[in-house]
Amino acid sequence: ARLREGLTKTRNNIVKGFDSVFSGYSVIDDEFYEELEETMIMGDLGGRATEEILDRLKEQVNDQGICDPQDCREILIDSIREQMHVGKTAYDFEKEQSVVMVIGVNGVGKTTSIGKLASKLKKQGRKVLIAAADTFRAAAGDQLEEWANRAGVDMIGGVEGSDPASVIYDAVNAAKARHVDVLLCDTAGRLHNKKNLMEELRKMNRIIDREFPGVHRENLVVLDGTTGQNALVQAREFAQVMDLTGIILTKMDGTAKGGIAVAIQSELHVPVKYIGVGEKIEDLQKFDPDQFVNALFD
Ligand code: GDP
Repeated sequence: ARLREGLTKTRNNIVKGFDSVFSGYSVIDDEFYEELEETMIMGDLGGRATEEILDRLKEQVNDQGICDPQDCREILIDSIREQMHVGKTAYDFEKEQSVVMVIGVNGVGKTTSIGKLASKLKKQGRKVLIAAADTFRAAAGDQLEEWANRAGVDMIGGVEGSDPASVIYDAVNAAKARHVDVLLCDTAGRLHNKKNLMEELRKMNRIIDREFPGVHRENLVVLDGTTGQNALVQAREFAQVMDLTGIILTKMDGTAKGGIAVAIQSELHVPVKYIGVGEKIEDLQKFDPDQFVNALFD
């Protein structure tokens, strides 16, 4: 119910658009398909997903000899659901000893998401440690510490301007010594300085590999759901730097651009693992693609 409520604007944007196309046409013709296409593009489903979904629909319409536009609704929903399952399925790292790198540009909700995730895992009885490796922004460490306190988990940080890799080194070794289940690593978000950031992330990777061999690794990129197609652009940039294992899609409450979740699955083949649905600590939900489609269309 919470998810459905949060997706109200996205649902209005996409579903109302579809329904007006379905009821506005008495026959299935090129114009009908064009209007559906426009609705999907406007709904931020992305060019590739839109094309695949339409192709699938046309195929079914021809195969089944469908004439009534209203009969396209279920097929369309099924094709969208199908698009949500291309690519990797999300691996459930929550029960495993893991080091989780959280990356994303400033302002997308990275700090908040780390706090929410820490709290969620802690409530499941996991021992969590946060590494504040964004030593570039003075306020970043303080903000993260507030979230760590709220979540009731420890944090390892470094002084402003110190080497983020050394924070990771300290945190990884503390995680081993304290038998931590999940180490959540905040990282800098200066994508405009891509070369430096890439080097920094690579160095962190090497340290984790060396200091904690065999531990399960997650590389989560945080994207702001309200930015629509820009979120996709950012994810692609990070994908050049790291092997992404999942997406945290924030600010899904109140945005009409929630269709971006479909575009992400379809174009990046990286699973959305969590969505942010508010500013409070409990406002992070595990993402289930089928639930998402149901919440939109049921
Ligand atoms: P960072 O710079 O990426 O670390 O971003 P922050 O975590 O500081 O978040 C930036 C702003 O976005 C803050 O005002 C957060 O409260 C807000 N925010 C983060 N996640 C969500 C979300 O899921 N929903 C809403 N409505 N706001 C969010």
